[in-house]
Amino acid sequence: MSRVVMKFGGTSVGIASNLGEAIRIIARETRTPGLPPIVVVSALSGVTNLLVDFCALPSRREALAARFLERHESYVAETGFGAAEITPLLAQWRQLAQASIALGALTAAARDRVLAMGERLAAAIVAAGLRAHGLDAQAVLAGDAGLVTDERFGAAHPLPEATELLGQTLSAMTCIAVVTGFLGRTLDGRITTLGRGGSDFSAAILGAAVQAREIQIWTDTSGMLSADPRIVPEARPVPHLSFAEASELAYFGAKVLHPKTLLPAIDRGIAVRILNTARPDDAGSRITPAAEPTDAPWRVKSIACKKAVTAVTIVSTRMLLAHGFLARVFEVFGRHHLVVDLVTTSEVSISITLDDTCRLDDALADLEGIGRVEVREGLAVIAVVGEGAPTRVGLAGHVFTLLGGVGLVVEMISQGASRVNLSFVVREEDADKAVRLLHRGLGLDMEVPAAAAPPR
Ligand code: ADP
Ligand code: ASP
Ligand code: MG
Repeated sequence: MSRVVMKFGGTSVGIASNLGEAIRIIARETRTPGLPPIVVVSALSGVTNLLVDFCALPSRREALAARFLERHESYVAETGFGAAEITPLLAQWRQLAQASIALGALTAAARDRVLAMGERLAAAIVAAGLRAHGLDAQAVLAGDAGLVTDERFGAAHPLPEATELLGQTLSAMTCIAVVTGFLGRTLDGRITTLGRGGSDFSAAILGAAVQAREIQIWTDTSGMLSADPRIVPEARPVPHLSFAEASELAYFGAKVLHPKTLLPAIDRGIAVRILNTARPDDAGSRITPAAEPTDAPWRVKSIACKKAVTAVTIVSTRMLLAHGFLARVFEVFGRHHLVVDLVTTSEVSISITLDDTCRLDDALADLEGIGRVEVREGLAVIAVVGEGAPTRVGLAGHVFTLLGGVGLVVEMISQGASRVNLSFVVREEDADKAVRLLHRGLGLDMEVPAAAAPPR
């Protein structure tokens, strides 16, 4: 019988007083007939950042190790449960921290072993909390449940056999499994992490493995909002999104959903819901294979923004009218494992944006053999997303007129091939202003669509 997967992020469990709410939400779910939910947790908020610093800054390891202990000890003291359960894990932490202090630089595998402590502690605390409320629950390390991955420490990807292994283990569990998010394990037993924010992806992998009825992402906003609330405080929840819309938003910076989350859900056609732990009765956002276009003016549902983007332009007049120019450029990016976001081309040049430039220097040498190369850093991609929006007559004109009206320079424009996304590049320092301007100018701040309505 199908069950739900419920993921609680660091923002949900990070504050001790919120944990009670998460436990009530899980308890409510156990009262629906069928198998108990599978719970996925991430580290308490701030803990993964602390561990990242611990790995990166050998000179501060002692102080950070103590802060890690203190954070969890004071948390369980405040909630009143979990003290016994975390004792052995904190002992492991002391050993691991001591060994790391002696080491200096850590290998990628050692780093993942350190990062994993955040999720391991959180799962133990949540499972203890559920038991304290009379529910049968057990903390489970994702690797023990079958989440096997490749060996790309820090950005691991599940192996194809993970689905079957997870399905077998989790189907055999009749209690509530509280599974560590963010973590996997190589076939030879070493812990891996799936990339920052990866607990959402874990929830979706588990959801696909048990063919869940729904994958629920419980967080601190009432759904996917019409913009990042840190940029646009008046942003509103979007009730319904398609997989394509949500994927574009997640990819272009809507942090509420890890970009890979929807892959397993799309494969199995499982709906994803984003819900607010502090306001569990809010409707949140539903993400399904297809979603109707919004009634809002311009059909735009949300605007996402990704900062720290770099643009690479390759200019080659020699390649004018020649075959194979683009193929050669993409071959270089592919060979250096550089993920390309946006692409615009002209007859003699191609511009590409990237957000991860750690292998760019090697690629540049190869690109210089193709043409003159310019690199621009400090840019941001803004994605204006909604089914049918880019094909709406006048949307692009309206967007660029709004931006031009306040003197904002648009560096690159690309109309997503998915037909749900109009994206463009601005200077990073202009990004927030551009998002706020468009949120208002495209009518996303309005209860009832009206004034800015485009021609029908
Ligand atoms: P969690 O700990 O639950 O995984 P995250 O911090 O990873 O939470 O993601 C939630 C945060 O994502 C929100 O608090 C918000 O600041 C940010 N965010 C960015 N864009 C959006 C958006 N479009 N809708 C909702 N939240 C967004
Ligand atoms: N705790 C991890 C992070 O901060 C994973 C997650 O939050 O999803 O990146
Ligand atoms: Mg997150």
